[in-house]
Amino acid sequence: MDTKAFKRSLQHSENYHRKGFGHQAEVATQLQSEYQSNLIQQIRNNNYILTRGDVTIHLAQAFGFCWGVERAVAMAYETRKHFKSDRIWITNEIIHNPSVNQRILEMQVDFIPVEAGIKDFSVVDAGDVVILPAFGASVQEMQILNDKSCKIVDTTCPWVSKVWNTVEKHKKGDFTSIIHGKYKHEETIATSSFAGKYLIVLNWTEAEYVADYILNGGNRQEFLTKFAKACSAGFDPDRDLERIGIANQTTMLKGETEKLGKLFEHTMMKKYGPHELNNHFQSFNTICDATQERQDAMTDLVQQPLDLMIVIGGFNSSNTTQLQQIAEEKGISYHIDTVERIKPDNCIEHRQLDGKLSVAENWLPEGKIVVGITSGASTPDKVVEDVIEKIFALKATAAVV
Ligand code: SF4
Repeated sequence: MDTKAFKRSLQHSENYHRKGFGHQAEVATQLQSEYQSNLIQQIRNNNYILTRGDVTIHLAQAFGFCWGVERAVAMAYETRKHFKSDRIWITNEIIHNPSVNQRILEMQVDFIPVEAGIKDFSVVDAGDVVILPAFGASVQEMQILNDKSCKIVDTTCPWVSKVWNTVEKHKKGDFTSIIHGKYKHEETIATSSFAGKYLIVLNWTEAEYVADYILNGGNRQEFLTKFAKACSAGFDPDRDLERIGIANQTTMLKGETEKLGKLFEHTMMKKYGPHELNNHFQSFNTICDATQERQDAMTDLVQQPLDLMIVIGGFNSSNTTQLQQIAEEKGISYHIDTVERIKPDNCIEHRQLDGKLSVAENWLPEGKIVVGITSGASTPDKVVEDVIEKIFALKATAAVV
Protein backbone atom coordinates (compact mmCIF):
# COMPACT_ATOMS: atom_id res chain seq x y z
CA MET A 1 0.00 0.00 0.00
CA ASP A 2 1.24 3.49 -0.84
CA THR A 3 0.69 4.97 2.64
CA LYS A 4 1.89 8.41 1.62
CA ALA A 5 -0.56 8.64 -1.28
CA PHE A 6 -3.38 7.32 0.92
CA LYS A 7 -2.64 9.91 3.62
CA ARG A 8 -2.52 12.67 1.02
CA SER A 9 -5.86 11.69 -0.49
CA LEU A 10 -7.41 11.34 2.99
CA GLN A 11 -6.29 14.85 3.87
CA HIS A 12 -8.13 16.19 0.82
CA SER A 13 -11.33 14.37 1.68
CA GLU A 14 -14.26 16.46 2.98
CA ASN A 15 -14.74 13.83 5.71
CA TYR A 16 -11.32 14.53 7.19
CA HIS A 17 -10.77 17.23 9.84
CA ARG A 18 -7.58 18.12 11.61
CA LYS A 19 -8.35 21.62 12.76
CA GLY A 20 -10.90 22.82 15.27
CA PHE A 21 -14.47 23.76 14.42
CA GLY A 22 -14.56 27.37 15.60
CA HIS A 23 -15.50 26.71 19.22
CA GLN A 24 -12.02 27.40 20.62
CA ALA A 25 -12.96 30.17 23.05
CA GLU A 26 -15.90 28.27 24.52
CA VAL A 27 -13.87 25.08 24.90
CA ALA A 28 -10.89 26.93 26.40
CA THR A 29 -13.11 28.18 29.24
CA GLN A 30 -14.48 24.70 29.83
CA LEU A 31 -11.01 23.11 29.84
CA GLN A 32 -9.78 25.79 32.20
CA SER A 33 -12.51 25.03 34.74
CA GLU A 34 -12.21 21.22 34.42
CA TYR A 35 -8.46 20.72 34.31
CA GLN A 36 -6.60 23.82 35.50
CA SER A 37 -5.72 24.52 39.13
CA ASN A 38 -5.30 27.77 41.04
CA LEU A 39 -3.01 26.11 43.55
CA ILE A 40 -0.65 24.90 40.83
CA GLN A 41 -0.64 28.33 39.24
CA GLN A 42 0.22 29.80 42.64
CA ILE A 43 3.17 27.37 43.00
CA ARG A 44 4.35 28.16 39.47
CA ASN A 45 4.26 31.87 40.28
CA ASN A 46 6.23 31.19 43.46
CA ASN A 47 9.21 29.77 41.61
CA TYR A 48 7.74 26.24 41.74
CA ILE A 49 8.02 25.98 45.56
CA LEU A 50 5.34 26.04 48.26
CA THR A 51 5.60 25.37 51.99
CA ARG A 52 2.59 24.68 54.16
CA GLY A 53 3.07 23.34 57.69
CA ASP A 54 5.72 20.63 57.69
CA VAL A 55 5.59 20.13 53.93
CA THR A 56 7.60 21.84 51.25
CA ILE A 57 6.62 21.02 47.69
CA HIS A 58 9.11 21.39 44.85
CA LEU A 59 7.46 21.16 41.46
CA ALA A 60 9.48 20.34 38.36
CA GLN A 61 9.88 23.43 36.16
CA ALA A 62 8.15 21.68 33.27
CA PHE A 63 5.43 19.16 33.87
CA GLY A 64 1.88 18.18 33.00
CA PHE A 65 -0.17 18.73 29.85
CA CYS A 66 1.97 19.26 26.78
CA TRP A 67 0.58 21.32 23.93
CA GLY A 68 -0.03 18.21 21.80
CA VAL A 69 -2.26 16.74 24.50
CA GLU A 70 -4.02 20.04 25.19
CA ARG A 71 -4.71 20.37 21.50
CA ALA A 72 -6.10 16.82 21.24
CA VAL A 73 -8.39 17.21 24.26
CA ALA A 74 -9.62 20.60 23.02
CA MET A 75 -10.36 19.10 19.60
CA ALA A 76 -12.33 16.26 21.20
CA TYR A 77 -14.43 18.79 23.14
CA GLU A 78 -14.94 20.87 20.00
CA THR A 79 -15.97 17.76 18.08
CA ARG A 80 -18.72 17.07 20.61
CA LYS A 81 -19.96 20.65 20.33
CA HIS A 82 -19.83 20.64 16.54
CA PHE A 83 -21.44 17.25 15.85
CA LYS A 84 -24.17 17.62 18.45
CA SER A 85 -26.35 14.68 17.52
CA ASP A 86 -23.91 12.36 15.73
CA ARG A 87 -22.51 9.20 17.23
CA ILE A 88 -18.89 9.85 18.13
CA TRP A 89 -16.21 7.24 18.61
CA ILE A 90 -12.58 7.37 19.51
CA THR A 91 -10.13 4.70 18.36
CA ASN A 92 -8.29 4.64 21.67
CA GLU A 93 -7.84 6.61 24.86
CA ILE A 94 -7.56 10.26 23.74
CA ILE A 95 -4.51 10.50 25.98
CA HIS A 96 -3.17 8.24 28.70
CA ASN A 97 -5.03 9.72 31.62
CA PRO A 98 -7.95 8.03 33.41
CA SER A 99 -9.74 11.21 34.53
CA VAL A 100 -9.62 12.82 31.08
CA ASN A 101 -10.81 9.61 29.42
CA GLN A 102 -13.66 9.32 31.93
CA ARG A 103 -14.72 12.86 31.09
CA ILE A 104 -14.66 12.05 27.38
CA LEU A 105 -16.91 9.03 28.03
CA GLU A 106 -19.32 11.21 30.00
CA MET A 107 -19.60 13.44 26.93
CA GLN A 108 -20.86 10.35 25.10
CA VAL A 109 -17.77 9.78 23.05
CA ASP A 110 -17.36 5.99 23.01
CA PHE A 111 -14.25 3.89 22.66
CA ILE A 112 -14.13 1.36 19.83
CA PRO A 113 -14.59 -1.99 21.64
CA VAL A 114 -11.63 -4.34 21.76
CA GLU A 115 -12.12 -8.14 21.60
CA ALA A 116 -9.09 -10.32 22.38
CA GLY A 117 -6.77 -7.44 21.57
CA ILE A 118 -8.48 -6.64 18.25
CA LYS A 119 -10.59 -3.55 17.71
CA ASP A 120 -14.12 -4.20 16.52
CA PHE A 121 -14.89 -1.52 13.94
CA SER A 122 -18.17 -3.21 13.00
CA VAL A 123 -19.88 -0.96 15.58
CA VAL A 124 -19.07 2.10 13.48
CA ASP A 125 -21.59 3.10 10.82
CA ALA A 126 -21.24 5.31 7.77
CA GLY A 127 -21.50 8.95 8.78
CA ASP A 128 -20.38 8.35 12.39
CA VAL A 129 -17.67 10.65 13.68
CA VAL A 130 -14.41 9.00 14.72
CA ILE A 131 -11.67 10.80 16.63
CA LEU A 132 -8.06 9.67 16.24
CA PRO A 133 -6.14 10.28 19.48
CA ALA A 134 -3.01 12.38 20.14
CA PHE A 135 -0.64 9.48 19.48
CA GLY A 136 -2.33 8.71 16.18
CA ALA A 137 -3.81 5.61 14.59
CA SER A 138 -2.45 3.04 12.20
CA VAL A 139 -2.88 3.59 8.50
CA GLN A 140 -5.00 0.39 8.35
CA GLU A 141 -7.44 1.86 10.88
CA MET A 142 -7.63 5.10 8.92
CA GLN A 143 -8.35 3.09 5.80
CA ILE A 144 -11.18 1.14 7.46
CA LEU A 145 -12.78 4.39 8.65
CA ASN A 146 -12.33 6.05 5.29
CA ASP A 147 -13.90 3.04 3.51
CA LYS A 148 -16.86 3.31 5.89
CA SER A 149 -17.29 7.01 4.96
CA CYS A 150 -16.84 8.11 8.55
CA LYS A 151 -16.08 11.67 9.47
CA ILE A 152 -12.54 11.51 10.79
CA VAL A 153 -11.28 14.04 13.33
CA ASP A 154 -7.54 13.59 13.47
CA THR A 155 -5.95 14.93 16.67
CA THR A 156 -2.59 13.25 16.02
CA CYS A 157 0.15 15.41 17.51
CA PRO A 158 2.28 17.08 14.82
CA TRP A 159 5.39 15.66 16.52
CA VAL A 160 4.08 12.16 15.95
CA SER A 161 3.30 13.01 12.31
CA LYS A 162 6.88 14.19 12.00
CA VAL A 163 8.09 10.70 12.93
CA TRP A 164 5.71 9.20 10.35
CA ASN A 165 7.28 11.45 7.72
CA THR A 166 10.69 10.20 8.81
CA VAL A 167 9.82 6.54 8.33
CA GLU A 168 8.25 7.42 4.97
CA LYS A 169 11.64 8.91 4.00
CA HIS A 170 13.39 5.73 5.14
CA LYS A 171 11.00 3.68 3.05
CA LYS A 172 11.55 5.84 -0.02
CA GLY A 173 15.32 5.45 0.31
CA ASP A 174 15.01 1.69 0.93
CA PHE A 175 16.27 2.07 4.51
CA THR A 176 14.98 -0.14 7.33
CA SER A 177 13.51 1.96 10.14
CA ILE A 178 14.96 1.12 13.53
CA ILE A 179 12.26 2.43 15.86
CA HIS A 180 13.24 3.08 19.48
CA GLY A 181 10.00 2.31 21.29
CA LYS A 182 7.63 -0.24 22.74
CA TYR A 183 6.11 -2.51 20.11
CA LYS A 184 2.75 -2.62 21.96
CA HIS A 185 2.43 1.16 22.33
CA GLU A 186 -0.27 2.68 20.10
CA GLU A 187 2.07 5.36 18.82
CA THR A 188 4.69 2.83 17.78
CA ILE A 189 2.03 0.61 16.19
CA ALA A 190 0.89 3.63 14.17
CA THR A 191 4.44 4.64 13.25
CA SER A 192 5.37 1.14 12.11
CA SER A 193 2.25 1.03 9.93
CA PHE A 194 3.72 3.87 7.86
CA ALA A 195 7.18 2.27 7.68
CA GLY A 196 8.37 -0.16 5.05
CA LYS A 197 10.81 -2.54 6.67
CA TYR A 198 11.17 -1.90 10.38
CA LEU A 199 12.62 -3.25 13.61
CA ILE A 200 11.44 -1.99 17.01
CA VAL A 201 14.18 -1.81 19.62
CA LEU A 202 13.17 -1.27 23.23
CA ASN A 203 16.42 -0.37 24.97
CA TRP A 204 20.19 -0.30 24.98
CA THR A 205 20.52 -4.08 25.52
CA GLU A 206 18.43 -4.84 22.45
CA ALA A 207 20.24 -2.18 20.44
CA GLU A 208 23.63 -3.66 21.32
CA TYR A 209 22.38 -7.09 20.28
CA VAL A 210 21.31 -5.72 16.88
CA ALA A 211 24.54 -3.73 16.44
CA ASP A 212 26.57 -6.85 17.19
CA TYR A 213 24.53 -8.81 14.64
CA ILE A 214 25.22 -6.14 12.03
CA LEU A 215 28.96 -6.30 12.63
CA ASN A 216 29.51 -9.96 13.38
CA GLY A 217 26.43 -11.84 12.22
CA GLY A 218 24.83 -14.34 14.57
CA ASN A 219 22.06 -16.81 15.01
CA ARG A 220 19.36 -15.73 12.54
CA GLN A 221 16.64 -17.84 14.16
CA GLU A 222 17.42 -16.50 17.60
CA PHE A 223 17.23 -12.96 16.20
CA LEU A 224 13.86 -13.61 14.57
CA THR A 225 12.46 -15.19 17.75
CA LYS A 226 13.69 -12.30 19.87
CA PHE A 227 12.05 -9.67 17.64
CA ALA A 228 9.10 -11.79 16.48
CA LYS A 229 6.56 -9.14 17.52
CA ALA A 230 8.78 -6.19 16.81
CA CYS A 231 9.62 -6.34 13.11
CA SER A 232 7.95 -6.05 9.73
CA ALA A 233 6.55 -9.14 7.99
CA GLY A 234 9.25 -11.16 6.24
CA PHE A 235 12.05 -9.29 8.02
CA ASP A 236 15.46 -10.86 7.37
CA PRO A 237 18.31 -9.62 9.61
CA ASP A 238 20.90 -10.79 7.08
CA ARG A 239 19.35 -8.69 4.32
CA ASP A 240 17.43 -5.86 6.01
CA LEU A 241 20.10 -4.33 8.23
CA GLU A 242 22.40 -3.08 5.47
CA ARG A 243 20.70 0.32 5.26
CA ILE A 244 19.10 1.65 8.43
CA GLY A 245 17.46 4.85 9.65
CA ILE A 246 16.52 5.87 13.18
CA ALA A 247 13.05 6.82 14.39
CA ASN A 248 11.51 6.86 17.83
CA GLN A 249 8.39 6.78 19.90
CA THR A 250 8.25 10.44 20.89
CA THR A 251 8.01 9.73 24.61
CA MET A 252 11.07 7.52 25.09
CA LEU A 253 14.00 8.74 27.18
CA LYS A 254 15.68 11.37 25.06
CA GLY A 255 19.21 10.45 26.20
CA GLU A 256 18.60 6.80 25.38
CA THR A 257 17.30 7.54 21.86
CA GLU A 258 20.37 9.71 21.21
CA LYS A 259 22.69 7.01 22.55
CA LEU A 260 21.05 4.38 20.36
CA GLY A 261 21.38 6.66 17.33
CA LYS A 262 25.10 7.09 18.01
CA LEU A 263 25.56 3.34 18.51
CA PHE A 264 24.04 2.55 15.12
CA GLU A 265 25.90 5.39 13.42
CA HIS A 266 29.24 4.04 14.74
CA THR A 267 28.24 0.51 13.85
CA MET A 268 27.53 1.41 10.23
CA MET A 269 30.66 3.56 10.03
CA LYS A 270 32.74 0.65 11.30
CA LYS A 271 31.17 -1.77 8.86
CA TYR A 272 31.07 0.37 5.71
CA GLY A 273 33.59 3.16 6.37
CA PRO A 274 32.96 6.93 6.77
CA HIS A 275 32.65 7.58 3.02
CA GLU A 276 29.81 5.10 2.69
CA LEU A 277 28.01 6.13 5.89
CA ASN A 278 25.27 8.16 4.17
CA ASN A 279 24.39 5.18 2.02
CA HIS A 280 23.84 3.03 5.06
CA PHE A 281 22.61 5.30 7.86
CA GLN A 282 20.02 8.07 8.25
CA SER A 283 19.04 10.01 11.33
CA PHE A 284 16.66 12.94 11.87
CA ASN A 285 15.86 14.57 15.17
CA THR A 286 12.37 13.39 16.10
CA ILE A 287 12.51 13.77 19.87
CA CYS A 288 9.50 15.79 20.97
CA ASP A 289 10.30 19.14 22.68
CA ALA A 290 7.74 18.60 25.42
CA THR A 291 9.15 15.20 26.35
CA GLN A 292 12.64 16.65 26.36
CA GLU A 293 11.66 19.61 28.57
CA ARG A 294 9.88 17.40 31.11
CA GLN A 295 12.79 14.97 31.31
CA ASP A 296 15.31 17.80 31.67
CA ALA A 297 13.19 19.39 34.41
CA MET A 298 13.02 16.06 36.24
CA THR A 299 16.78 15.67 36.00
CA ASP A 300 17.14 19.14 37.57
CA LEU A 301 14.56 18.42 40.26
CA VAL A 302 16.28 15.25 41.48
CA GLN A 303 19.50 17.21 42.07
CA GLN A 304 17.78 18.98 44.97
CA PRO A 305 17.68 17.55 48.49
CA LEU A 306 14.30 15.80 48.57
CA ASP A 307 12.85 13.32 51.05
CA LEU A 308 10.72 11.68 48.39
CA MET A 309 9.28 12.20 44.96
CA ILE A 310 5.90 11.61 43.42
CA VAL A 311 5.44 11.14 39.70
CA ILE A 312 1.82 11.51 38.63
CA GLY A 313 0.46 10.13 35.38
CA GLY A 314 -1.47 7.31 33.73
CA PHE A 315 -0.06 3.83 34.37
CA ASN A 316 0.05 3.20 30.62
CA SER A 317 1.68 6.56 29.92
CA SER A 318 5.11 6.03 28.48
CA ASN A 319 6.41 9.54 29.16
CA THR A 320 5.37 9.27 32.82
CA THR A 321 7.24 5.97 33.16
CA GLN A 322 10.37 7.63 31.78
CA LEU A 323 10.07 10.40 34.42
CA GLN A 324 9.72 7.75 37.11
CA GLN A 325 12.85 6.04 35.78
CA ILE A 326 14.85 9.27 36.19
CA ALA A 327 13.41 9.74 39.70
CA GLU A 328 14.07 6.18 40.87
CA GLU A 329 17.72 6.41 39.90
CA LYS A 330 18.09 9.16 42.51
CA GLY A 331 15.93 8.12 45.45
CA ILE A 332 12.50 7.18 46.71
CA SER A 333 9.80 7.91 44.18
CA TYR A 334 6.20 6.75 43.82
CA HIS A 335 4.36 6.67 40.49
CA ILE A 336 0.63 7.13 41.02
CA ASP A 337 -2.17 8.00 38.61
CA THR A 338 -4.79 9.52 40.91
CA VAL A 339 -5.07 10.80 44.46
CA GLU A 340 -7.09 7.67 45.35
CA ARG A 341 -3.80 5.71 45.37
CA ILE A 342 -3.00 7.44 48.66
CA LYS A 343 -4.65 5.13 51.17
CA PRO A 344 -5.46 5.38 54.88
CA ASP A 345 -2.91 4.32 57.51
CA ASN A 346 -0.01 6.01 55.75
CA CYS A 347 -0.02 3.60 52.77
CA ILE A 348 0.37 4.39 49.10
CA GLU A 349 -0.38 2.10 46.18
CA HIS A 350 2.03 2.77 43.35
CA ARG A 351 3.24 1.37 40.07
CA GLN A 352 6.74 -0.07 39.91
CA LEU A 353 8.88 0.27 36.80
CA ASP A 354 8.16 -3.36 35.86
CA GLY A 355 4.46 -2.48 35.73
CA LYS A 356 3.48 -4.26 38.94
CA LEU A 357 1.40 -2.48 41.57
CA SER A 358 2.69 -2.51 45.10
CA VAL A 359 1.77 -0.91 48.41
CA ALA A 360 4.31 1.03 50.46
CA GLU A 361 3.67 1.50 54.15
CA ASN A 362 4.75 4.50 56.24
CA TRP A 363 5.53 6.34 53.06
CA LEU A 364 5.15 9.85 54.49
CA PRO A 365 8.02 10.44 56.92
CA GLU A 366 7.43 12.24 60.20
CA GLY A 367 8.44 15.86 60.77
CA LYS A 368 9.39 18.36 58.12
CA ILE A 369 9.58 16.92 54.60
CA VAL A 370 10.50 18.12 51.13
CA VAL A 371 8.56 16.46 48.32
CA GLY A 372 9.49 16.68 44.65
CA ILE A 373 6.54 16.41 42.28
CA THR A 374 6.15 16.10 38.55
CA SER A 375 3.48 14.81 36.20
CA GLY A 376 3.37 13.29 32.75
CA ALA A 377 2.34 15.08 29.57
CA SER A 378 -1.22 13.78 29.80
CA THR A 379 -1.92 14.75 33.41
CA PRO A 380 -4.19 17.72 34.17
CA ASP A 381 -3.02 20.17 36.85
CA LYS A 382 -6.19 19.40 38.84
CA VAL A 383 -4.93 15.87 39.50
CA VAL A 384 -1.59 17.24 40.75
CA GLU A 385 -3.44 19.69 43.00
CA ASP A 386 -5.49 16.85 44.52
CA VAL A 387 -2.30 14.96 45.41
CA ILE A 388 -0.62 18.01 46.95
CA GLU A 389 -3.71 18.91 49.00
CA LYS A 390 -3.90 15.32 50.24
CA ILE A 391 -0.28 15.40 51.42
CA PHE A 392 -0.86 18.73 53.18
CA ALA A 393 -3.97 17.31 54.88
CA LEU A 394 -2.28 14.05 55.96
CA LYS A 395 0.71 15.85 57.42
CA ALA A 396 -1.49 18.42 59.18
CA THR A 397 -3.46 15.62 60.83
CA ALA A 398 -0.28 13.77 61.79
CA ALA A 399 1.10 16.97 63.36
CA VAL A 400 -2.07 17.38 65.47
CA VAL A 401 -1.98 13.71 66.59
S1 SF4 B 1 4.40 14.36 24.39
FE1 SF4 B 1 5.14 15.40 22.54
S2 SF4 B 1 4.57 14.03 20.86
FE2 SF4 B 1 3.35 13.43 22.63
S3 SF4 B 1 1.45 14.60 22.41
FE3 SF4 B 1 2.83 15.82 23.71
S4 SF4 B 1 3.84 17.25 22.29
FE4 SF4 B 1 2.97 15.56 21.09
